[in-house]
Amino acid sequence: MRTIQTVKEMKAWSAQARRPLGLVPTMGCLHEGHMSLVRKCRSACRSSAVSVFVNPAQFGPSEDLNGYPRTLESDRKKLEDAGVDVLFLPGPGEIYPPGYKTYVNVEDITSRLCGKSRPQFFRGVATVVLKLFNIARPDLAFFGEKDWQQLETLRTMARDLDLDVTIESLPIVREADGLAMSSRNVYLSPEQRESALSLSRSLSAAREMFRQGERSAEKIRARIREIVEKQSARIDYVSVCDPRTFVEQEKIGEKALVALAVWVGTTRLIDNCLIERT
Ligand code: AMP
Repeated sequence: MRTIQTVKEMKAWSAQARRPLGLVPTMGCLHEGHMSLVRKCRSACRSSAVSVFVNPAQFGPSEDLNGYPRTLESDRKKLEDAGVDVLFLPGPGEIYPPGYKTYVNVEDITSRLCGKSRPQFFRGVATVVLKLFNIARPDLAFFGEKDWQQLETLRTMARDLDLDVTIESLPIVREADGLAMSSRNVYLSPEQRESALSLSRSLSAAREMFRQGERSAEKIRARIREIVEKQSARIDYVSVCDPRTFVEQEKIGEKALVALAVWVGTTRLIDNCLIERT
Protein backbone atom coordinates (compact mmCIF):
# COMPACT_ATOMS: atom_id res chain seq x y z
CA MET A 1 0.00 0.00 0.00
CA ARG A 2 1.26 3.41 -0.92
CA THR A 3 0.81 6.39 1.42
CA ILE A 4 0.28 9.70 -0.37
CA GLN A 5 0.36 13.01 1.48
CA THR A 6 0.05 15.63 -1.24
CA VAL A 7 -2.75 16.71 -3.56
CA LYS A 8 -0.36 16.76 -6.50
CA GLU A 9 0.78 13.17 -6.00
CA MET A 10 -2.77 11.95 -5.40
CA LYS A 11 -3.96 13.53 -8.65
CA ALA A 12 -1.06 11.91 -10.51
CA TRP A 13 -1.85 8.49 -9.01
CA SER A 14 -5.55 8.83 -9.87
CA ALA A 15 -4.77 9.80 -13.47
CA GLN A 16 -3.09 6.46 -14.13
CA ALA A 17 -5.06 4.20 -11.74
CA ARG A 18 -7.09 1.30 -13.10
CA ARG A 19 -10.80 2.07 -13.36
CA PRO A 20 -13.22 1.96 -11.69
CA LEU A 21 -11.46 3.72 -8.83
CA GLY A 22 -13.18 3.65 -5.41
CA LEU A 23 -12.68 6.10 -2.55
CA VAL A 24 -13.58 5.69 1.13
CA PRO A 25 -13.33 9.01 2.99
CA THR A 26 -12.71 8.64 6.74
CA MET A 27 -11.35 10.50 9.74
CA GLY A 28 -9.34 7.44 10.85
CA CYS A 29 -9.48 5.49 14.12
CA LEU A 30 -10.78 2.74 11.87
CA HIS A 31 -13.26 0.12 13.09
CA GLU A 32 -15.39 -2.55 11.43
CA GLY A 33 -17.87 0.08 10.19
CA HIS A 34 -15.11 1.69 8.15
CA MET A 35 -13.72 -1.69 7.11
CA SER A 36 -17.08 -2.82 5.70
CA LEU A 37 -16.87 0.19 3.35
CA VAL A 38 -13.27 -0.64 2.51
CA ARG A 39 -14.10 -4.26 1.67
CA LYS A 40 -17.02 -3.21 -0.51
CA CYS A 41 -14.80 -0.68 -2.27
CA ARG A 42 -12.17 -3.37 -2.91
CA SER A 43 -14.69 -5.82 -4.33
CA ALA A 44 -16.49 -3.25 -6.53
CA CYS A 45 -13.45 -1.41 -7.90
CA ARG A 46 -10.14 -2.16 -9.61
CA SER A 47 -8.29 0.56 -7.65
CA SER A 48 -8.99 1.62 -4.09
CA ALA A 49 -8.06 4.62 -1.99
CA VAL A 50 -8.93 5.42 1.62
CA SER A 51 -8.48 8.93 2.94
CA VAL A 52 -7.72 9.59 6.59
CA PHE A 53 -8.20 13.27 7.34
CA VAL A 54 -9.56 14.80 10.54
CA ASN A 55 -11.33 17.68 8.87
CA PRO A 56 -11.09 20.90 10.94
CA ALA A 57 -13.87 22.55 8.90
CA GLN A 58 -16.56 20.23 10.27
CA PHE A 59 -15.75 20.80 13.95
CA GLY A 60 -17.25 23.67 15.93
CA PRO A 61 -15.06 25.83 18.19
CA SER A 62 -16.07 23.90 21.32
CA GLU A 63 -15.91 20.45 19.75
CA ASP A 64 -13.36 17.63 19.95
CA LEU A 65 -11.03 18.43 16.99
CA ASN A 66 -7.84 18.33 19.05
CA GLY A 67 -8.86 15.34 21.14
CA TYR A 68 -10.28 13.36 18.21
CA PRO A 69 -8.76 9.85 18.44
CA ARG A 70 -5.81 9.30 16.11
CA THR A 71 -4.54 5.74 15.65
CA LEU A 72 -2.52 6.04 12.46
CA GLU A 73 -0.28 2.98 12.78
CA SER A 74 -3.12 0.56 13.45
CA ASP A 75 -5.21 2.22 10.69
CA ARG A 76 -2.36 1.74 8.26
CA LYS A 77 -2.04 -1.94 9.19
CA LYS A 78 -5.79 -2.56 8.77
CA LEU A 79 -5.80 -0.94 5.34
CA GLU A 80 -2.67 -2.77 4.26
CA ASP A 81 -4.18 -6.11 5.36
CA ALA A 82 -7.40 -5.28 3.48
CA GLY A 83 -5.40 -4.81 0.27
CA VAL A 84 -6.06 -1.09 -0.24
CA ASP A 85 -3.88 0.47 -2.95
CA VAL A 86 -3.50 3.98 -1.53
CA LEU A 87 -3.82 5.63 1.87
CA PHE A 88 -4.37 9.34 1.26
CA LEU A 89 -3.12 11.16 4.33
CA PRO A 90 -3.01 14.90 3.73
CA GLY A 91 -2.15 17.38 6.47
CA PRO A 92 -4.61 20.24 7.21
CA GLY A 93 -2.41 22.74 5.31
CA GLU A 94 -2.57 20.57 2.20
CA ILE A 95 -6.39 20.69 2.15
CA TYR A 96 -6.85 24.23 3.51
CA PRO A 97 -3.75 26.20 2.50
CA PRO A 98 -3.35 29.79 3.74
CA GLY A 99 -5.92 32.04 2.05
CA TYR A 100 -8.49 29.25 1.70
CA LYS A 101 -11.93 30.83 1.09
CA THR A 102 -14.38 28.41 -0.55
CA TYR A 103 -17.09 26.34 1.16
CA VAL A 104 -19.97 24.22 -0.12
CA ASN A 105 -23.42 24.76 1.36
CA VAL A 106 -26.17 22.21 0.74
CA GLU A 107 -29.26 24.10 1.81
CA ASP A 108 -32.36 23.17 3.77
CA ILE A 109 -31.77 19.49 4.58
CA THR A 110 -28.64 20.46 6.50
CA SER A 111 -30.52 22.82 8.81
CA ARG A 112 -32.38 19.98 10.53
CA LEU A 113 -31.35 17.21 12.99
CA CYS A 114 -27.53 17.32 13.38
CA GLY A 115 -27.41 20.66 11.52
CA LYS A 116 -29.25 22.38 14.38
CA SER A 117 -26.71 21.65 17.08
CA ARG A 118 -23.70 21.55 14.72
CA PRO A 119 -24.32 24.48 12.34
CA GLN A 120 -20.85 24.24 10.76
CA PHE A 121 -20.87 20.47 10.35
CA PHE A 122 -22.41 19.74 6.94
CA ARG A 123 -20.73 22.73 5.32
CA GLY A 124 -17.39 21.29 6.48
CA VAL A 125 -18.26 17.77 5.35
CA ALA A 126 -19.56 18.81 1.90
CA THR A 127 -16.50 21.00 1.35
CA VAL A 128 -13.94 18.36 2.24
CA VAL A 129 -15.74 15.60 0.35
CA LEU A 130 -16.00 17.72 -2.79
CA LYS A 131 -12.28 18.48 -2.48
CA LEU A 132 -11.48 14.78 -1.98
CA PHE A 133 -13.57 13.96 -5.06
CA ASN A 134 -11.70 16.56 -7.10
CA ILE A 135 -8.33 15.33 -5.85
CA ALA A 136 -8.87 11.55 -6.07
CA ARG A 137 -11.37 11.59 -8.99
CA PRO A 138 -13.16 8.40 -7.86
CA ASP A 139 -15.80 6.65 -9.96
CA LEU A 140 -17.42 5.35 -6.80
CA ALA A 141 -17.36 6.60 -3.21
CA PHE A 142 -18.52 4.65 -0.18
CA PHE A 143 -20.31 6.02 2.91
CA GLY A 144 -22.07 4.53 5.92
CA GLU A 145 -25.76 4.84 6.75
CA LYS A 146 -24.69 5.51 10.34
CA ASP A 147 -24.42 9.13 9.16
CA TRP A 148 -27.70 9.11 7.23
CA GLN A 149 -28.09 12.87 7.01
CA GLN A 150 -24.49 13.23 5.84
CA LEU A 151 -25.15 10.62 3.15
CA GLU A 152 -28.23 12.49 1.91
CA THR A 153 -26.30 15.75 1.95
CA LEU A 154 -23.52 14.25 -0.17
CA ARG A 155 -25.95 12.61 -2.60
CA THR A 156 -27.67 15.99 -2.96
CA MET A 157 -24.36 17.73 -3.55
CA ALA A 158 -23.31 15.14 -6.17
CA ARG A 159 -26.64 15.52 -7.97
CA ASP A 160 -26.81 19.31 -7.81
CA LEU A 161 -23.20 19.87 -8.88
CA ASP A 162 -23.30 17.21 -11.63
CA LEU A 163 -20.45 15.22 -10.10
CA ASP A 164 -19.32 12.13 -12.01
CA VAL A 165 -19.22 9.93 -8.96
CA THR A 166 -21.60 7.22 -7.83
CA ILE A 167 -22.28 7.33 -4.12
CA GLU A 168 -22.75 3.92 -2.53
CA SER A 169 -24.00 3.38 1.01
CA LEU A 170 -23.71 0.50 3.43
CA PRO A 171 -25.69 -0.42 6.57
CA ILE A 172 -24.63 0.45 10.10
CA VAL A 173 -22.16 -2.00 11.63
CA ARG A 174 -22.84 -2.64 15.33
CA GLU A 175 -21.08 -4.22 18.28
CA ALA A 176 -22.55 -7.56 19.44
CA ASP A 177 -24.70 -5.74 22.03
CA GLY A 178 -26.14 -3.32 19.46
CA LEU A 179 -24.00 -0.22 20.01
CA ALA A 180 -23.32 1.41 16.63
CA MET A 181 -19.58 1.40 15.99
CA SER A 182 -18.05 4.85 16.17
CA SER A 183 -14.55 6.22 16.57
CA ARG A 184 -15.93 8.27 19.47
CA ASN A 185 -16.88 5.11 21.42
CA VAL A 186 -13.27 5.08 22.71
CA TYR A 187 -14.17 8.12 24.85
CA LEU A 188 -16.73 6.12 26.85
CA SER A 189 -16.07 4.75 30.34
CA PRO A 190 -17.58 1.30 31.08
CA GLU A 191 -20.59 2.97 32.78
CA GLN A 192 -21.05 5.41 29.92
CA ARG A 193 -20.83 2.58 27.41
CA GLU A 194 -23.72 0.94 29.24
CA SER A 195 -25.76 4.18 29.03
CA ALA A 196 -24.88 4.41 25.34
CA LEU A 197 -26.78 1.18 24.70
CA SER A 198 -29.96 3.20 25.22
CA LEU A 199 -29.58 4.57 21.68
CA SER A 200 -29.83 1.23 19.88
CA ARG A 201 -32.32 -0.13 22.44
CA SER A 202 -34.64 2.82 21.95
CA LEU A 203 -34.46 2.34 18.18
CA SER A 204 -35.37 -1.35 18.59
CA ALA A 205 -38.33 -0.29 20.74
CA ALA A 206 -39.38 2.20 18.05
CA ARG A 207 -39.16 -0.46 15.37
CA GLU A 208 -41.24 -2.81 17.48
CA MET A 209 -43.92 -0.15 18.15
CA PHE A 210 -44.17 0.47 14.41
CA ARG A 211 -44.36 -3.27 13.69
CA GLN A 212 -47.24 -3.55 16.13
CA GLY A 213 -49.13 -0.84 14.30
CA GLU A 214 -48.19 2.41 16.08
CA ARG A 215 -48.26 5.26 13.53
CA SER A 216 -48.03 8.30 15.81
CA ALA A 217 -44.55 9.78 15.39
CA GLU A 218 -44.92 11.65 18.68
CA LYS A 219 -45.68 8.49 20.65
CA ILE A 220 -42.57 6.88 19.19
CA ARG A 221 -40.44 9.96 19.95
CA ALA A 222 -41.78 9.99 23.51
CA ARG A 223 -40.91 6.32 24.06
CA ILE A 224 -37.37 6.88 22.75
CA ARG A 225 -36.91 9.90 25.05
CA GLU A 226 -38.14 7.85 28.01
CA ILE A 227 -35.67 4.99 27.35
CA VAL A 228 -32.71 7.32 26.80
CA GLU A 229 -33.43 9.59 29.77
CA LYS A 230 -33.71 6.59 32.09
CA GLN A 231 -30.03 5.98 31.33
CA SER A 232 -29.27 9.57 32.39
CA ALA A 233 -28.09 10.42 28.91
CA ARG A 234 -28.87 13.93 27.64
CA ILE A 235 -30.87 14.15 24.45
CA ASP A 236 -29.78 16.47 21.66
CA TYR A 237 -32.62 15.43 19.36
CA VAL A 238 -35.03 12.59 18.73
CA SER A 239 -36.56 12.60 15.28
CA VAL A 240 -39.13 10.61 13.37
CA CYS A 241 -38.90 12.22 9.98
CA ASP A 242 -39.01 11.88 6.25
CA PRO A 243 -35.82 10.02 5.27
CA ARG A 244 -35.05 12.43 2.38
CA THR A 245 -36.21 15.87 3.59
CA PHE A 246 -35.81 15.32 7.37
CA VAL A 247 -39.11 17.09 7.98
CA GLU A 248 -40.71 15.75 11.18
CA GLN A 249 -43.64 13.44 10.59
CA GLU A 250 -46.87 13.39 12.57
CA LYS A 251 -48.53 10.29 11.26
CA ILE A 252 -46.09 7.80 9.76
CA GLY A 253 -47.02 6.69 6.27
CA GLU A 254 -45.01 4.16 4.28
CA LYS A 255 -41.73 4.83 6.02
CA ALA A 256 -39.79 7.09 8.35
CA LEU A 257 -36.26 7.67 9.51
CA VAL A 258 -35.94 7.36 13.26
CA ALA A 259 -32.80 9.21 14.31
CA LEU A 260 -31.33 10.47 17.54
CA ALA A 261 -28.30 12.26 18.94
CA VAL A 262 -27.47 11.88 22.58
CA TRP A 263 -24.81 13.22 24.94
CA VAL A 264 -23.30 10.52 27.13
CA GLY A 265 -21.05 12.54 29.44
CA THR A 266 -19.12 14.78 27.04
CA THR A 267 -19.46 12.40 24.09
CA ARG A 268 -22.12 13.02 21.48
CA LEU A 269 -23.38 9.82 19.85
CA ILE A 270 -25.79 9.33 16.95
CA ASP A 271 -27.78 6.37 15.67
CA ASN A 272 -30.71 5.79 13.34
CA CYS A 273 -32.92 3.23 11.68
CA LEU A 274 -35.40 3.23 8.86
CA ILE A 275 -38.85 1.93 9.68
CA GLU A 276 -41.07 0.91 6.81
CA ARG A 277 -44.20 -1.04 6.07
CA THR A 278 -43.27 -4.47 4.78
P1 AMP B 1 -15.85 8.87 10.04
O1 AMP B 1 -14.44 8.36 10.09
O2 AMP B 1 -16.57 8.79 11.34
O3 AMP B 1 -15.95 10.22 9.36
O4 AMP B 1 -16.63 7.86 9.10
C1 AMP B 1 -16.18 7.55 7.81
C2 AMP B 1 -17.24 6.75 7.10
O5 AMP B 1 -17.50 5.56 7.81
C3 AMP B 1 -18.58 7.49 6.97
O6 AMP B 1 -19.13 7.24 5.70
C4 AMP B 1 -19.40 6.87 8.06
O7 AMP B 1 -20.79 6.90 7.81
C5 AMP B 1 -18.88 5.44 8.03
N1 AMP B 1 -19.15 4.78 9.32
C6 AMP B 1 -18.81 5.20 10.55
N2 AMP B 1 -19.28 4.35 11.49
C7 AMP B 1 -19.96 3.38 10.83
C8 AMP B 1 -20.68 2.21 11.23
N3 AMP B 1 -20.81 1.88 12.53
N4 AMP B 1 -21.24 1.45 10.29
C9 AMP B 1 -21.12 1.79 8.96
N5 AMP B 1 -20.45 2.86 8.52
C10 AMP B 1 -19.87 3.65 9.44
